[in-house]
Amino acid sequence: MILTKSPQNLLDFDRSQLEALFTAMGEQRFRATQAMKWMYGDYQLDFHQFTNFSKALRQKMAAHFSTAVPELISEHVSQDGTIKWLLKMDSDNAIETVYIPEKNRGTLCVSSQVGCSLNCTFCATGAQGFNRHLSTAEIIAQVWVAAKQLNHHNKNRRITNVVMMGMGEPLANYERVLPALNIMRDDCGFGLANKRVTVSTSGLVPQINQLNQDADVSLAVSLHAPNDGLREQLVPLNKKYNIEQLLNACREFVRNKKKARITFEYTVIGGVNDAPEQAHELTRLLHDIPCKINLIPFNPFPGTVFQSPSSKKVDQFKEICMAAGYICTVRKTRGDDIAAACGQLAGEFMDRTRRSAVYGSRLMKRPLEVR
Ligand code: SAH
Ligand code: SF4
Repeated sequence: MILTKSPQNLLDFDRSQLEALFTAMGEQRFRATQAMKWMYGDYQLDFHQFTNFSKALRQKMAAHFSTAVPELISEHVSQDGTIKWLLKMDSDNAIETVYIPEKNRGTLCVSSQVGCSLNCTFCATGAQGFNRHLSTAEIIAQVWVAAKQLNHHNKNRRITNVVMMGMGEPLANYERVLPALNIMRDDCGFGLANKRVTVSTSGLVPQINQLNQDADVSLAVSLHAPNDGLREQLVPLNKKYNIEQLLNACREFVRNKKKARITFEYTVIGGVNDAPEQAHELTRLLHDIPCKINLIPFNPFPGTVFQSPSSKKVDQFKEICMAAGYICTVRKTRGDDIAAACGQLAGEFMDRTRRSAVYGSRLMKRPLEVR
């Protein structure tokens, strides 16, 4: 760990990285724990208020570090209690973070990138193109801002779960996402249980294997199709890592982990992947993997050619999965009135790939024929 001349954001580092930083400064390692308690326990970002640090150390900290969190631009509260925050990342970019309160838990949906390069054909974020990765600080600051707004540490409206299901592909931004996952689960960070932090991926196989080595978190895999032919059309990444490779990585992920299950996400798109025979094919495909299936009825967004499925089709699909012995849930659409549902998060950003212009028109002209 090298101290640089330009101030580094302390929120960019997990505990072990902070310990290395303090050691490099000639300080004791336990300063890392103290600093984290100030930042994440007390929401205190002003070094001069770190009262258990000597004055000299506080001054040294101020010379080397910053503690910037993104500015909160807006907060929208849905009739169903869902809250969406728009956070300013820099002069060009803003991203969205969503809080979903339920009876026994509160889930925060966190973004990992501004836009996404993986171009899944049914996703608003993908349709917008990719702009940039978020830093660790920008990822963990979403939890920081949400927790502060919700008064997390008063156990009032608590965040109990974090899902990396906002904008972006978390495993495409691995090195910045990993320290953020560590801070979420650190007792001096947000103290979340391992299994309550979930990384959702469209199937980056090498990074799934790496995550398996590095962090004991839950894994959700966006499958959306029971065969390669259809999946390639919905998730272009399937051309690089096919279903067999992906499922092998999933099997490895749960091997030797007690009670661990993969969550397979399946966005149900009307007339595309919602047929009973596709449900049967899915149940055969997953038969030897400890898993549950989460059906997400497609949420439309401007410019898409896809349609939401009928609730009858979704129910039928679910019944088939359950009859085959799977735990199968249907994700309720939350925050409908504030455009906070899955796949609807758009944020505001400069589309450097300009895909939104190109892609939007392609979508309008060339609907997929998949059945
Ligand atoms: N990039 C990651 C995480 C972000 S997307 C991934 O793909 O898993 C989070 C979930 O929302 C994914 O399962 C994704 O497939 C789903 N999703 C994307 N667009 C959607 C839409 N329009 N309607 C319903 N679900 C959608
Ligand atoms: Fe990216 Fe996930 Fe959207 Fe695919 S579904 S484009 S991986 S954010």
